[in-house]
Amino acid sequence: MEVVREKRRMQQQASALRRQGHRLGLVPTMGALHAGHLSLVEQARRGCDTVIASIFVNPLQFGPEEDFQRYPRDLARDLAQLAGVGCDWVFAPEAGDMVALDATTRVVVEGLDQVLCGASRPGHFRGVATIVTKLFHVVQPHVAVFGQKDAQQRLARDLDFDVEIRIAPIVREADGLAMSSRNQYLGADERRDALRLSAALRAVHEQARAGERDTARLQWGLRQELARGTRLRLDYADIVDTETLHPLPRLQGRALVVVAVFVGTTRLIDNVVLEVRGDDVREGALPDWVPPPAPGGPGRAEIHDGAGL
Ligand code: AMP
Repeated sequence: MEVVREKRRMQQQASALRRQGHRLGLVPTMGALHAGHLSLVEQARRGCDTVIASIFVNPLQFGPEEDFQRYPRDLARDLAQLAGVGCDWVFAPEAGDMVALDATTRVVVEGLDQVLCGASRPGHFRGVATIVTKLFHVVQPHVAVFGQKDAQQRLARDLDFDVEIRIAPIVREADGLAMSSRNQYLGADERRDALRLSAALRAVHEQARAGERDTARLQWGLRQELARGTRLRLDYADIVDTETLHPLPRLQGRALVVVAVFVGTTRLIDNVVLEVRGDDVREGALPDWVPPPAPGGPGRAEIHDGAGL
């Protein structure tokens, strides 16, 4: 496994790999890796010759009062874990190389930045979208894999990136808690209360399976369950359209049930996709996105660069 710290070197290496016909898969992370991240690497392996994981604690996506300084960082441990799942390259840039102090250009996500995490973390999506765009330019991947945990990605489609976007399911601890680098902040009591997130999502699923379709009542059930965690402070608990993230009046088609809470100073998020088919309500998934094919030929995501040239 090769580790690259400099942006320009990564760009050169990625270009060289593409010229050799490699199909590149990118897994962007902020490090402090857990099994959820590693599942994305395995997902990227499917149909790709070379998997590149990036490790970058992105200062642009943290608010001034948030945990940028104390966010867990352990590069040696991360590298050992990535090597263990057969990752080929790791791009771990220094903050100054990735975000120039005098940079004034940002990628703005309109609309989505007014709801859910966008509303409670001003500037968060702009920071994420800006860095993901830069990572796409540096690594030039054919495929990028994100977790459903951050269920708000539509950058590639809106900006015509020729990158296939795969959304991977949430990996959980045995007791249901969604894995997160921030779980290590939790004390024992806080961790117990944090189990309310996944319990609340399961409760909504049960209610829906029992026939409830009114989202106001489902949402009430969701909040009741969260309120049982005495250390939890609600940020949001909503049932929204998977595309627009706008609240749904009734549960139908594919819906995203999303929760965010503070446990002490730690902010945790979780979600589940529910798919209603007649009387049946199943746990679903967010669809991958594949760039549309070029007229008369395959898109970049379908071909190996340089193939046939
Ligand atoms: P982060 O390092 O927390 O910024 O996350 C990097 C990527 O890993 C994002 O695409 C997340 O959605 C994804 N991710 C984080 N936690 C999990 C999890 N428990 N299961 C699957 N993917 C995850």
